[in-house]
Amino acid sequence: MMSIRTRLTIWYSAILVLGFLLFGAGVYFTVSLTLIRQVDASLDQSASSIVDQIKIIMNGGERVIRLPQFDVFRASSVYVEALDNKGNIRGKSTNVGDFNEQLDPAKITELSTKSAVEQKPVYNNVQHLGAPPLRVYTYPLVVNDTGELFGYLQVAASLEDIELTKHGLLLTLLVIGALVLMISSAAGAAMARRALRPMTEITNAALEIYRTDDLDRRVDVFTNDEVGRLASAFNEMLDRLTRLFRAQQRFVADVSHEMRTPLTVIRGNVDLLRMGCADEESLDAITSESERMTRMVSNMLLLSQADSGALPMHLQPLDLAPLIANIVRSGHIMADGRVEVNSVVSGEAIIQGDSDRLKQVLLNLVDNAIKHTPDGGKVIINAASPDGHNVVISVTDTGIGIPPQDLAHVFERFYRVDKSRSRAQGGAGLGLAIAKSFVEAHGGQIDVQSTMGEGTAFIVTLPAYRPYLV
Ligand code: ADP
Repeated sequence: MMSIRTRLTIWYSAILVLGFLLFGAGVYFTVSLTLIRQVDASLDQSASSIVDQIKIIMNGGERVIRLPQFDVFRASSVYVEALDNKGNIRGKSTNVGDFNEQLDPAKITELSTKSAVEQKPVYNNVQHLGAPPLRVYTYPLVVNDTGELFGYLQVAASLEDIELTKHGLLLTLLVIGALVLMISSAAGAAMARRALRPMTEITNAALEIYRTDDLDRRVDVFTNDEVGRLASAFNEMLDRLTRLFRAQQRFVADVSHEMRTPLTVIRGNVDLLRMGCADEESLDAITSESERMTRMVSNMLLLSQADSGALPMHLQPLDLAPLIANIVRSGHIMADGRVEVNSVVSGEAIIQGDSDRLKQVLLNLVDNAIKHTPDGGKVIINAASPDGHNVVISVTDTGIGIPPQDLAHVFERFYRVDKSRSRAQGGAGLGLAIAKSFVEAHGGQIDVQSTMGEGTAFIVTLPAYRPYLV
């Protein structure tokens, strides 16, 4: 298969050369035609002035034709012959010299087969042996009154100069054409190479990444054309692949890490059981650790289903007021009087959503808020639709807060602010990741604001339900 570069070069040169050929042919034929027309016009002029001077005199019933002095009329380069209607030469200009043939025998023969009315003047190119090519104008001589043909006038000019001019022109065009071909193919090749250089670069980068497993390799292309965009798309794709790949690696590492502690605890307690020195506490530990693992695994499953879109969402118009009232009741039970849990729903808060999933989101947020708020603190759920387009639900607490450097990461999987604290409370750092995934599946977004020692607010924004738009 020919390379794109060669093909581009060939096409480029072929189109240029074809264009030039058409242009050259146009110039050549226009010039030839113009030159011939000029010759024809001057021949016609000479013929007319000669014919005007031909005199027909009746001499005692017999017709006598008087020819003028040809050399008076013609330009020095015009040859003149007068013939009778049989084709015999009756007069000629001096420059014809010893030449004793008709200037254009073919046309005389042709015209003599026609009737007198069909006789029309004709131009013809003639080549006599050993002489330059001639343009010959054959003019039938007819008696005005009777229409009777009495002879022919042949006026001729040499085409030698014209032929020379035409040859010169052709040669010039050919030389320029060859130059055009050479320059266009060299320029085409250079342009194609320049345009395609980034492609080679991309190919090399791809091969290098494949061979060395170096995901940090990027293509250096800074143009803003199609190839530049291909290169930046390639780089972006690599960025995303790298991120996904690293996330995958981290995920596997996190899962193994999370599983290790409960498995170690279970293992240790089972050993105690074997030795017969286990008590009720060991059994409780086994139960709670395996419950924790079960919870974690089902959360992971939930997340991966949400990622792949396999988690069904039953979206329907949903009034948030009763749902929030429900959450507040659960909050009271979770807080066990330690923390105050309240809600304020202002105006209508209706969205298009899946009530079970949203409940899960809000319970997660309220659970987190209660866990991270010291005794006597407050947790408040607010819902309002400030602009009619969105419904904003916030879960605010007066708790310990989240350090600024952790704020950007709390929605990541397995991310915990204080590892020992969270693990003691049974969290694996998946709760907020699930909340984010569910909220996004509703077309919404979740944000967090926090001040250390003062409290935290999680803000969920969901598109409002607007039936008149459906
Ligand atoms: P977990 O299930 O371990 O609680 P989450 O994803 O729900 O994990 O939360 C991630 C981290 O964010 C937790 O480690 C926790 O310390 C922190 N966090 C979440 N909510 C709050 C809050 N309201 N106040 C302070 N820290 C919080």
